[in-house]
Amino acid sequence: MAVKELNAIVSQRIEVTPELVKLRVIPQGWELPDFKPGQYGVLGLPGSTPRYPSADVEENTPDPDKIIMRAYSVASSSVAKEYIEFYIGLVRAGSLTPRLLSLKRGDKVWMGSKFKGMFTLSEVPSEFNVVLIATGTGVAPYISMIRTELAEGVRHRFAVIHGAYHSDDLGYNDELSTLAAANNNFTYLPVLSHAHEEVVPWKGHEGFVQKLWTDGTLEKKWEVKPTPENTHVFLCGSPLMIKPMTEILNKEGFKKHSKREHGQIHTEQFFVKL
Ligand SMILES: Cc1cc2nc3c(=O)[nH]c(=O)nc-3n(C[C@H](O)[C@H](O)[C@H](O)COP(=O)(O)OP(=O)(O)OC[C@H]3O[C@@H](n4cnc5c(N)ncnc54)[C@H](O)[C@@H]3O)c2cc1C
Repeated sequence: MAVKELNAIVSQRIEVTPELVKLRVIPQGWELPDFKPGQYGVLGLPGSTPRYPSADVEENTPDPDKIIMRAYSVASSSVAKEYIEFYIGLVRAGSLTPRLLSLKRGDKVWMGSKFKGMFTLSEVPSEFNVVLIATGTGVAPYISMIRTELAEGVRHRFAVIHGAYHSDDLGYNDELSTLAAANNNFTYLPVLSHAHEEVVPWKGHEGFVQKLWTDGTLEKKWEVKPTPENTHVFLCGSPLMIKPMTEILNKEGFKKHSKREHGQIHTEQFFVKL
């Protein structure tokens, strides 16, 4: 296979924590195609790219010329399109993230020229509420949806429920809190699983995202119970959240959405096994 040209450049590397970054990427010599909020692109780097210091040492050295590629949800607006923003967490034993996190502003990277995926708001009727539930970097596609929807005028009542270990892992906390304060039809509920480890006592929600659904926190906020008749639910990130959350929703009558069978649960699982 011919060696792929690194066809894009990192315009900004915003460090959320040492192992969690927002990378803004700009194509070099080609136009960004249209895409829908919620879709993903593909990033790649050759095996010769150095690994991030806190990553594990690789057992098998990859082919230095071969591009290692992985899917990443777009976090930036599909309207502005000044750059593509990705929100990426280090998987210490991984092949690509230890290389992606080593990138600095001005470094080259490979970015696929097509953005794909069905995890979008396209098939949500405009009269439905939308609950966007994520763990970790799974919030990325929702940032694109929220940035785009708010720029175009909100069609739905939205909520983002974002679960993380610690408060500094809530990479979009400031933006989402500000948007929630300014928009009556947007609710933001961050929840920490390791709140007891916070340096400054955490006054917000504790536990897992499932708890905020089952204990009626959202219902109280909205003063409306989310049901399959009025709400679509999006689940993104770890299988450890998607599986139990799907089971809870199924018991309440929510059904998985697919092209063939329309339902109210939309899922995007970032990885299979831990
Ligand atoms: C549609 C789609 C969109 C995605 N969007 C994002 C995104 O926006 N941000 C993002 O950071 N990742 C995202 N991912 C995950 C991403 O594609 C990579 O799988 C991830 O970055 C790990 O890549 P790696 O090469 O470093 O690890 P790999 O070498 O691929 O994996 C090494 C091992 O770690 C496991 N693993 C992979 N990811 C994780 C994880 N997060 N936590 C724990 N174990 C893991 C794998 O199952 C494997 O066993 C997305 C995946 C899909 C399918």
